[in-house]
Amino acid sequence: MPVHDKFVIIDYDLCDLCGTCVGVCPENVIYLSAHQLSIEQDGCTRCNKCIWVCPVRALELSSAKDIVHNVTP
Ligand code: SF4
Ligand code: SF4
Repeated sequence: MPVHDKFVIIDYDLCDLCGTCVGVCPENVIYLSAHQLSIEQDGCTRCNKCIWVCPVRALELSSAKDIVHNVTP
């Protein structure tokens, strides 16, 4: 499966809004508000850096078919 058939998804139960992933994203497509993290998928290059740095493993690269509701389109 080509990598761009995949998306970085956020497990909101695990994410504690620490902001670490925001700082490492080379495309600046991760946004942190007071209550929620979101990723602008169109700008994401699937570099995986955010996944590697998340201390609680709240981010995961998943295929589109796995995405139901926990991702910002
Ligand atoms: S995979 Fe890379 S480009 Fe996409 S949100 Fe994570 S750090 Fe940013
Ligand atoms: S690094 Fe992980 S826990 Fe921290 S804001 Fe990003 S997804 Fe959430």
